[in-house]
Amino acid sequence: ASMKRKFFVGGNWKCNGSMHSIKELCEALNAGERLESSAVEVMVAPPALYASYARSLLRDDFAVGLQNCWIGKPGAFTGEIAADMIRDAGFPYVILGHSERRHIPELRENDQTVARKTRYAIEQGLAVVLCIGELLEERQAGKTREVNERQLNAVKEVLSDEDWRRVVIAYEPVWAIGTGQVATVEQAEQAHAEIRSWLEKQVGSTAAAETRILYGGSVTADNCDELAKQPDVDGFLVGGASLKPAFLDIVRSHK
Ligand code: PGA
Repeated sequence: ASMKRKFFVGGNWKCNGSMHSIKELCEALNAGERLESSAVEVMVAPPALYASYARSLLRDDFAVGLQNCWIGKPGAFTGEIAADMIRDAGFPYVILGHSERRHIPELRENDQTVARKTRYAIEQGLAVVLCIGELLEERQAGKTREVNERQLNAVKEVLSDEDWRRVVIAYEPVWAIGTGQVATVEQAEQAHAEIRSWLEKQVGSTAAAETRILYGGSVTADNCDELAKQPDVDGFLVGGASLKPAFLDIVRSHK
């Protein structure tokens, strides 16, 4: 963490929950201390169907976002949700490019798809949590930096330098997601520092200084404090551990 960037903790609920469990979780989150808006920003992303319900239950110091959106304008796209609607319904954030959307064979979004979604969502006034990260075989082949930069370059092609103010980057090594195998603090800090240097070269020094870079992949209340101390780790994107009240311990890791 750095004093210059407001710590950000996102809870990605993925395709989990029910009316019952979401009510319980929201009540547990509301029972924690109020979030100091100057110190930390917290967003949860429920399944779209439950987003309004979660919004109606949660205290207003929690932000609510969605996990994905359609690539462009509303229209004849059965089953999709457009960024326009996310904004209109009052949700400020959308997560894009999550590794499950990039890699699950039935979904398979490529770098250009993610880039176009990012551009359109930003045009509609949303802020985007942009997920990037390498597969295990890519890490083993020494390609972590190359893969992260390839994914970022696709987005850079379609954004103005100003647009990056609406982007939060989430570095999520795919081998660490849902596996219990969290990246070491050294692995995380190195990737984050490389991403920040990419920002410096490709976007500019303001973007490098101000863009939050989150770590995601098996973050828990037990491993978050060490990671949060790293200078280029500006917060977390949390999956499994965001479904339990201990998510609040991860929120507190900025202190
Ligand atoms: P995990 O998921 O915390 O369950 O590993 C992280 C993510 O997919 O964002």
